[in-house]
Amino acid sequence: MALEGRCMRCKENREMKDVKVAPTARGTFMARGKCTVCGTNMAKILSKEQAEKLK
Ligand SMILES: [Zn+2]
Repeated sequence: MALEGRCMRCKENREMKDVKVAPTARGTFMARGKCTVCGTNMAKILSKEQAEKLK
């Protein structure tokens, strides 16, 4: 399961590793992971459809 997010350190879109998906209070989902290049923590808001695909 590959998920891309914006890495603040690389200033590029990077693949996330160690992704964990958690629901938020607003009914959306948040993916948390690390940049595969530099290891910086990344977070990305997911739609429900995206979150379902990651399970
Ligand atoms: Zn990075």
